[in-house]
Amino acid sequence: MLAIAAVCVTIAPAPAFAQTSPKKAPVDCSAVKCIALTFDDGPGQYAGTLLDTLKKYDAKATFFLEGQYAKSRPQYVKRMVAEGHELGNHSYRHPDFTKSSEATIKAEIQQTQDAVKKAAGVEPKLLRPPYGMTDVRVSEIAEQFGMPQILWTAGSEDWASKNVEAIQKQTLAVAKPNAIILMHDWVKQTVDGMPSLIKTLQHKGYHLVTVSDVIKEEKLEPGDAFPLPQGWEQ
Ligand SMILES: [Zn+2]
Repeated sequence: MLAIAAVCVTIAPAPAFAQTSPKKAPVDCSAVKCIALTFDDGPGQYAGTLLDTLKKYDAKATFFLEGQYAKSRPQYVKRMVAEGHELGNHSYRHPDFTKSSEATIKAEIQQTQDAVKKAAGVEPKLLRPPYGMTDVRVSEIAEQFGMPQILWTAGSEDWASKNVEAIQKQTLAVAKPNAIILMHDWVKQTVDGMPSLIKTLQHKGYHLVTVSDVIKEEKLEPGDAFPLPQGWEQ
């Protein structure tokens, strides 16, 4: 069973404006309310608009990139790193790893590492297998690459609804401290609704941070999956 940390309910102060704090201390997610928005399958065609919004509201996010799009849209990958966001590996062409050969899985991961490195000079340290599908064999390969597997605590269902109001409603319904929310920067309505969604989350006291910020206390090892998929035992 997953241990759920007890959460103290406190009145959160209004978020400080970035320009009034010259040197910001790192966010401590064991002390303040944090949430990690994650964007899969990109960089998508609306990534530039999304990055503008994140910058405007001083919010950080995590992008689980497909290698094929890191290759075709390297300018966004570069911006993501320069603007303080976290990058993860989401395969090169998005096959279901649990139905792929070991050689294919390894090539999908490595080609994506290479494409991201070429675009932005860094290599992702987190893996999100396509569809969140993993098993013992995939976990062993993730371990060989030195990466924990990051799934999500809840989805925005943005790819299904493609509706600004529905995406906001669903995301706010599943928002909780240290939540990892699945979204997509190829869904236009997700990007369109992001300014108002971020404002609402910040008014509720949330700090929008990277996945590594919210999993700090989990002490994940390479190959671990988090949160544990249903039916898995620790
Ligand atoms: Zn995906």
